[in-house]
Amino acid sequence: MPEPLNAGGQTPPIEPPTGCTSTLIWRLARRLYADHQPGPDGWCLNCRPAILYPCVARQLADFGLATAMGHTAAAPHLANKGHHW
Ligand SMILES: [Zn+2]
Repeated sequence: MPEPLNAGGQTPPIEPPTGCTSTLIWRLARRLYADHQPGPDGWCLNCRPAILYPCVARQLADFGLATAMGHTAAAPHLANKGHHW
């Protein structure tokens, strides 16, 4: 599946960045991130039409990216505030 790119350089890199504490978690979460992108109507391209964006899979992807970078958030939906992966 082609991967849409975010504007503004907010797309996390495919390869684990410097400081990544778990390359396995990063790669799994990054794949999940790529698979659950919003479409032009705001719905996840994979989960439509049943789930609003961000879908659960995208929330888990964001949480995984943050976890791979050593961040421990209390809730998955709070893990990527400001996209600090
Ligand atoms: Zn989704």
